[in-house]
Amino acid sequence: MQQTTLQIGGLTPMTTIDYPGELAAVIFCQGCPWSCRYCHNSHLLPRSGDDLIEWASVIDFLKQRQGLLDAVVFSGGEPTLQRNLKAAIQQVRAMGFKIGLHSAGAYPERLAELLPLLDWVGLDIKALPEDYDTLTGVSGSGKKAWKSLQLLIASGVAYEIRTTVHPELLTPALLKQLDSRLQETGVVNHQLQKCNTSHCLDTTLTA
Ligand code: SF4
Repeated sequence: MQQTTLQIGGLTPMTTIDYPGELAAVIFCQGCPWSCRYCHNSHLLPRSGDDLIEWASVIDFLKQRQGLLDAVVFSGGEPTLQRNLKAAIQQVRAMGFKIGLHSAGAYPERLAELLPLLDWVGLDIKALPEDYDTLTGVSGSGKKAWKSLQLLIASGVAYEIRTTVHPELLTPALLKQLDSRLQETGVVNHQLQKCNTSHCLDTTLTA
């Protein structure tokens, strides 16, 4: 078996809500280059962790689910942070699973390489590109996310564009502008997600 050092912070064995219309397992990849103020997965942000799951045990689990699950979703964190993601996807795809990806589009060049291997992408577009830096804490993050959006649309891979709405960060006026800009870019499937404010990285946003 091909060895990989994919860092995995969690696994959901079965879900109906993470890949539209498919019964899927979700692999939560460890690490994210951004620090979104509303992030509620702060344990997945460091590139390594104490309770990582061995890739070999994930493969063993998936072997037992062949024919029972339709798909495997790579989520995070930001899965495209890890250079071994492509090899991991190839391995899971060869087992007969459809492949879903949840991404915030932080690495457009890596996403471009992955797109031919993907069946569905849930891409977070958090704000207008010019409004990203104050949200993610990382300069230039908006340009990367919107470049990923363009690549995804051009690829023809099925997708859902998701925007998390925290009322203090995304006013109705900004949301309207965002929706217009997404339509101009060619987006046909834009969904809003209510922010989970039970705990946010920026505790001033926690309800
Ligand atoms: S991109 Fe996602 S995982 Fe990364 S900090 Fe933002 S909300 Fe959290």
